[in-house]
Amino acid sequence: MDTFGCAIDCIDGRAQMPVIEWVKFHGSVQYVDMITEPGADGCLAREDSKITNRIHHTTQVAIRAHNPSIIAVCGHFDCVANPVSNEEHIADIKKSAGIVGHWVPEIRVVGLFVNEFGSIDLICDSNEGKSEIKSFL
Ligand SMILES: [Zn+2]
Repeated sequence: MDTFGCAIDCIDGRAQMPVIEWVKFHGSVQYVDMITEPGADGCLAREDSKITNRIHHTTQVAIRAHNPSIIAVCGHFDCVANPVSNEEHIADIKKSAGIVGHWVPEIRVVGLFVNEFGSIDLICDSNEGKSEIKSFL
C-alpha cells in the first residue's frame, strides 16, 4: 500500500525538492502531497484567515485521500512572499506548526526551514515534544 506524507510549503521551486526528499526519508513515506501558497509560513503565522482556511481545507482533503503519517510545515530562505530574516522564519514556522498541530493532534507535525544551502533545518517535531534545530547537510 502506498504511504504518504504531506507538506505545507511555499510555491517557490527551490523549496520543493529538499522538503519532499526530507519528508520521504525521515517520515518513511513514498509520496508527499504538496499544499502550496506563496509564503505559507508567514500566512499561517500572521493568521491570514482566507489563506489559512484554504490551507486547512486542502490539508483535510489530503488527510481524507491519503491518511498521511507526517505533515511538514515549511518556510525557506530568500522567500519573496514572506521576506523576513531567518530568525523570523523560524519563529513563523514554529507558530505555523503549532497551528497545524492543533488541527491534527493525531498526526506527526514537523517544522522545516530550507536554508541558504538548499538543505533542511528541522525546527520542531511534535514527536519529540521539544523544539531544537538540527541541520541535515
Ligand atoms: Zn517563498
